[in-house]
Amino acid sequence: MIPHSPRQVRSDLDRDIEPLVVGGVRHGASAIPARADVVVVGGGPAGSSTAALLAKAGVDVVLLEKVKHPRNTVGESLIPHFWKFADKVGVSREIEQGGYLKKAGGITVWKGKIHQFSFEKFGYKRPALHVERDLFDDMVLRHAQASGARVFEETAVTRVDLADPAALKVHYDDRRGGSSNPGLLTCKYVVDASGHNVVLAKQLGSRVIVGRGQQEYMALWGYFEDARYVGADGKSYGPECLPGIKPVTFVVSYEDGWIWHIILREHTSVGLVINTSSIKGMKRPQYEAYFKRIVESTPYLRELLRTAKFKEGSIRFMHDYSYYLTEVCGEGWFCIGDAGGFVDPIFSHGVQAAFYNANVVSVLVKGSLDRPSRAQEYRRHFDRRVRQYYGFSRSLALGDFGGDGVDAGLVKALMKQMPPIELEMMLVASCISDRSTNFRNMAREAGVLGEFGDGFISGRHRYLPALEL
Ligand SMILES: Cc1cc2nc3c(=O)[nH]c(=O)nc-3n(C[C@H](O)[C@H](O)[C@H](O)COP(=O)(O)OP(=O)(O)OC[C@H]3O[C@@H](n4cnc5c(N)ncnc54)[C@H](O)[C@@H]3O)c2cc1C
Repeated sequence: MIPHSPRQVRSDLDRDIEPLVVGGVRHGASAIPARADVVVVGGGPAGSSTAALLAKAGVDVVLLEKVKHPRNTVGESLIPHFWKFADKVGVSREIEQGGYLKKAGGITVWKGKIHQFSFEKFGYKRPALHVERDLFDDMVLRHAQASGARVFEETAVTRVDLADPAALKVHYDDRRGGSSNPGLLTCKYVVDASGHNVVLAKQLGSRVIVGRGQQEYMALWGYFEDARYVGADGKSYGPECLPGIKPVTFVVSYEDGWIWHIILREHTSVGLVINTSSIKGMKRPQYEAYFKRIVESTPYLRELLRTAKFKEGSIRFMHDYSYYLTEVCGEGWFCIGDAGGFVDPIFSHGVQAAFYNANVVSVLVKGSLDRPSRAQEYRRHFDRRVRQYYGFSRSLALGDFGGDGVDAGLVKALMKQMPPIELEMMLVASCISDRSTNFRNMAREAGVLGEFGDGFISGRHRYLPALEL
């Protein structure tokens, strides 16, 4: 029924890499060094790809990851843009061999209007994917290790002392073997890739929640077995059809926000992004009932889930949703991936942003190590590139409320540089929801709306009258 068993993919690597646990004592667990050139905090896609790139460039890099991988996380839909950065990291072959589901594109039902598009029509030759993030992230982490980065799992960074930029002090808690051993690692550069834990931003008080007190969102998600899925033709299929008919990522709006449906090889990820003002006063125990009520009552989604089985205990949620940092870097430190900012994932930007940021930071850290006199210039460059990227994503994914802190000049400059077909795809994306007001205003001001005007209609996507689910 399912094309490949994803759990078989990582066995060889496990055998070689995972230390043997005997009676709670780890044999083979090596000591964390006292010094390194670079410490990367967190082994998600951002941290692992940074560590891999730096290690391949000959940099002495240590990655500290709080938990043991594979660890599950949400964010399973990847857009094909990520390949060009994954190629640079050198991890594309492993991803291809992972056998992940290739998706045909997206179908969205936003306030009743149905919109369908495929990446292929926009010239993308390589597929978009639906990935099990535990396997995917583990694969990238192992790639970092195989590239020469020294990786320590179950080791949480507790604080970074930035007082002496020539010798930053990373405080950690080594929890391997079930114990708790505080330690200290001195380094020249710290790359914070700790995801929503935002280790450095918390320490520096630099995180700003977008829409605080006005229009805040949270995510609530869970998993189903044997759900049906939507194909590019707008019809529904059972999971047994996956080998022959590619799925799309299906998005549907509802009165309190929007919902994703992402089919994977063993189950389907379904999640709500909720305007928190709609569920004011609701307590955690009520979240699951709300989730079930919404998925059972939302048109189209309820048809896809009618015969599916909810995986009990799979409900997760996340508050403090979209945010940005007032400072993304400083002397000796950089924040990347979700530790540098987070944008509502309506356009599945997160993983490719993580890869992109890793490419940027690794070049600039390596440059700063080789030419310390130019470190400040490299920092400015990082700041510009990263704020530009987050600003672009936020303008596209959030409505008026997401404009705060976006540098419009940087975003417009990026719009002007983009290949026309990629820009066209972004403009199509901006029609999907009513979230892209900032993006469209900036595109107009930048003079890139061109022939499309406001009522953008592209030959490369289409509106569907209805879905046959
Ligand atoms: C609800 C939701 C849906 C999403 N959907 C999508 C999607 O469909 N497509 C997409 O591309 N993106 C999506 N995203 C975003 C995507 O998941 C993230 O952007 C991506 O995981 C960022 O990678 P990262 O490496 O920055 O962070 P993470 O993947 O979060 O990795 C951070 C790592 O740091 C570790 N860590 C944390 N604190 C410490 C510490 N103190 N010390 C050491 N290690 C630490 C964590 O254990 C973790 O392994 C979604 C996000 C959410 C919240």
